[in-house]
Amino acid sequence: MPTNDEYWVALQQRICAKCVDGDGSGGCRIAPGHDCALGTHFPQIIETVNSVFSSSVEPYVEQLRKKVCAVCTGQSSEGACRLRDETECALDRYFPLIVQVIEETQLKKRLQT
Ligand code: SF4
Ligand code: SF4
Repeated sequence: MPTNDEYWVALQQRICAKCVDGDGSGGCRIAPGHDCALGTHFPQIIETVNSVFSSSVEPYVEQLRKKVCAVCTGQSSEGACRLRDETECALDRYFPLIVQVIEETQLKKRLQT
């Protein structure tokens, strides 16, 4: 199983490097006072993705809503999220690719051992 550091490096290379809030090289340029849910909920995201195995993204999204969005300050008690609605949450915006990166990192590690 990859370490959290290995997952994080892979996500920085593949997600942050493409993110509209990134610097193009994997660094984050999100506005001061704002947190990216990818970083804030990082261990839960890894756990969430690893709890699902499907060729479809829906079961992953379903678990993301249950395990991450449900405890995120961005979501109201009614389950609404303005950041999600306005595609301002990088975690939600890139989630299908995030799932792919996490699963590929895991597979790569398995093939190395
Ligand atoms: S906003 Fe999130 S996904 Fe985007 S560069 Fe920053 S940490 Fe990475
Ligand atoms: S979509 Fe909203 S509730 Fe879910 S992680 Fe992003 S900001 Fe938090």
